Amino acid sequence: MEFCPKCGAMMLPNDGILKCKTCGYSNELEKNDMYEVSKEINAEDNVKILGKDIDVGPITNETCPECGNDKATYKLLQTRSADEAPTRIFTCTKCKHTWRAYD
Ligand SMILES: [Zn+2]
Ligand SMILES: [Zn+2]
Repeated sequence: MEFCPKCGAMMLPNDGILKCKTCGYSNELEKNDMYEVSKEINAEDNVKILGKDIDVGPITNETCPECGNDKATYKLLQTRSADEAPTRIFTCTKCKHTWRAYD
């Protein structure tokens, strides 16, 4: 099983090339630049990142202001004042950028 070094999604072989359906990363196109990096990431970091995603919360269709990815996990953060709406904390599934939104 191979996982995308960019976004951690499962990569499926297609004509002998591993391609990520989530972000379009292909190990054939970027092999020269990414090979050493992806080898290291696959060994350890992706497992941690995938495990973290499960804990963070449900995935929603929110566009990341950093990379334009349209999927993010979110959780609600209740402020101290009961009058205020809870703050939503989004985490991009692709680049892990986090940001807040207020209702
Ligand atoms: Zn990917
Ligand atoms: Zn992002």
